Amino acid sequence: MKPVPQSIRTALDAIDGAAMLAQVERWATINSGTTNLAGLAAMAGELSDAFAQLPGEVRLVDPAPITAIAADGREVEVENGRHLVVSVRPEAQRRFIFTGHMDTVFPADHPFQELAWLDDDVLNGPGTADMKGGIAVMLEALRVLETFAPWQDCGYDVMINADEETGSLSSAPLIEELARGKFAALTYEPAATPEGTLAHARGGSGNYALTVTGRSAHAGRNPHDGRNAIVAAATLAVALKDLQRDDISVNPAKIEGGAANNVVPDHAVLRFNIRPKEPAAADYFTAAMNAVIGEVKQRQEVDVHVHGGISRPPKPVDRKAQKLFDLVRECGASLGQTIDWKSTGGVCDGNNIAATGVPVVDTMGVRGGKIHSSDEFMIAPSLAERAALSALVLSRLAEGEDL
Ligand SMILES: [Zn+2]
Repeated sequence: MKPVPQSIRTALDAIDGAAMLAQVERWATINSGTTNLAGLAAMAGELSDAFAQLPGEVRLVDPAPITAIAADGREVEVENGRHLVVSVRPEAQRRFIFTGHMDTVFPADHPFQELAWLDDDVLNGPGTADMKGGIAVMLEALRVLETFAPWQDCGYDVMINADEETGSLSSAPLIEELARGKFAALTYEPAATPEGTLAHARGGSGNYALTVTGRSAHAGRNPHDGRNAIVAAATLAVALKDLQRDDISVNPAKIEGGAANNVVPDHAVLRFNIRPKEPAAADYFTAAMNAVIGEVKQRQEVDVHVHGGISRPPKPVDRKAQKLFDLVRECGASLGQTIDWKSTGGVCDGNNIAATGVPVVDTMGVRGGKIHSSDEFMIAPSLAERAALSALVLSRLAEGEDL
């Protein structure tokens, strides 16, 4: 175990856990559900002010236009909040990307809006762990690192998106653009367990909507003239489910559409999710899905329109990423923190970063748990603890540690 070098100790001593907690308490009372554009704008304002203490330029980036398929098959535009970007020393040789999200899964009308202390250390509240606490960890680590001389030779981009909880569809191009060419990435999702376990390899995820158009006819007079969109959608659901293998799960989730009982329905929408474990599984599925669709189109004489795709590529841990995990563990040991990791089926922006070839550890945020539920909690002392972990890891990378 390497001791913490004296040169970074002054910076670590400056970590202000009480101020971080006050920040999280304020941020968590602002509802910023992914669909609450006013709340997201308020949150973006708070974050712009907070990140202005870093030396870089803070800007808000418009979301990329994205669409969804309505129940009637129409393609409709989806509104999203703006994403925050902070760029510091873009001319530096060794540059990093740090990401987080300002949105939560709790809409403005959700009953879970208040904070409550469960005991002296455990704060229950919306977005405390996922991930307003994580944003505070990121900011505090970067704030204290500014006093560490070797860090002045490093540059970085911070990206805090407003749509992570719905799949980062409107921020994916931004993440890709900012990640490219970076030396390493840290993402501030909460630890995978309350003990601080990191998420290691992650599977991927894709969401699809297939719009089936058949031909309506009278169910009694001329049913043979009809082309039944509900039957075609059901056939597709069964055939796609049959494509499931050990390395990919397929979940047909919903069929919408249909007509009155005496009408052959000419319209249906089939929605499904896939979870490929490896990039090869994703390729297999895409080819097999297209073959299935082609067959149903031909046999049942319907039209099928595909919307969606794989939005979170599988995240294997390559050699460089493993070195980054090893460094986090080693730095944890120096600070008296036990760091381990495990693979998970969950997805996050770390998937998108890894797809650009940049090594990433994506659970550098607080310790907590029960996220996406009204029991969500953050272990408050982990704010300072995890800020120290990030700052120490980055100090090592600033001093030339290779990956
Ligand atoms: Zn999250």
